[in-house]
Amino acid sequence: ELSKKAISQFRFFEKQMNRTIHEKIQMERELRKALESGEFELYYQPQIQLTTGQVVGMEALIRWNHPEKGMIPPNKFIPIAEETGLIIPINEWVMETACCQTKQLLDQYPFLSVSVNLSPYEFESRRLVYKLVKILEKTNLPPHCLDVEITERMTMDTEKAIPILKRLKLVGVTISIDDFGTGYSSLSYLKKLPIDRLKIDRSFVQNIQEEKEAVLPAIISLGHNIGVKVLAEGVETEQEVAYLKEKQCDEVQGYYYAKPLPYHDLVKFLEEHKK
Ligand code: C2E
Ligand code: MG
Ligand code: MG
Ligand code: MG
Repeated sequence: ELSKKAISQFRFFEKQMNRTIHEKIQMERELRKALESGEFELYYQPQIQLTTGQVVGMEALIRWNHPEKGMIPPNKFIPIAEETGLIIPINEWVMETACCQTKQLLDQYPFLSVSVNLSPYEFESRRLVYKLVKILEKTNLPPHCLDVEITERMTMDTEKAIPILKRLKLVGVTISIDDFGTGYSSLSYLKKLPIDRLKIDRSFVQNIQEEKEAVLPAIISLGHNIGVKVLAEGVETEQEVAYLKEKQCDEVQGYYYAKPLPYHDLVKFLEEHKK
């Protein structure tokens, strides 16, 4: 027999559930509108080569300028975009915009490359390679100037991931493993993946303490042993930079150098850091 308390609890959860479903539907509608009316913007975070101090690339990070709610960070809407499948057209916009804006910088900065983040659903989409080729043709960006970031999780099923990665390599883009160290990739399989770079998750970089201190150099050597570059994410202090330099990390990205910048500010940053 259901107690009054149980019934009222059930009603409460029912209400909560309807509210979140309602919120999601609302958000989906707003995301569609955002895409149509140009409310998305790309910010760019510079990537610096440690030995030379040269800016060698930047990561494109999406922002949503909501007309009423202001700036919405990706963590607030990417999960819903993924659930609804809207991530596909949204990231298509990201890739095309990133390629187009980077192409405009190449005359002055020929060594630049731009990184874009791929979502799991998109990574497995049969049309990904086709779309990338089309965008590269349309924007005239050389393929080696585009880097795609995938997470460790997306490579876990290696039988599925390796053929996709090989097709991407045929297109000529480079591949980075994002947030490296937080997933569960088996180290023996890592060697088999045709990748170009490991991006160490910022949790390993920030406030380097004893336990982490053992991990960071280990990841850097691991990367070098399998012949890939290693970038450390989330570098915020001079000490972290010095430490990473000493441990022969190749590249860094983080607030110490710059927060993600609107395109216009990225151009200024590049001018100021021209070598
Ligand atoms: P991510 O790819 O790992 O990007 C790095 C995140 O760390 C960015 O957050 C960046 O602003 C932040 N960050 C960089 N340096 C520092 C630092 O020194 N300190 C701290 N505390 N944070 C730092 P953001 O821009 O909020 O992006 C969050 C995540 O959203 C990204 O993580 C990425 O997974 C996803 N994302 C962003 N843009 C896109 C996109 O266009 N498509 C897809 N599918 N995902 C995206
Ligand atoms: Mg990333
Ligand atoms: Mg990352
Ligand atoms: Mg991260």
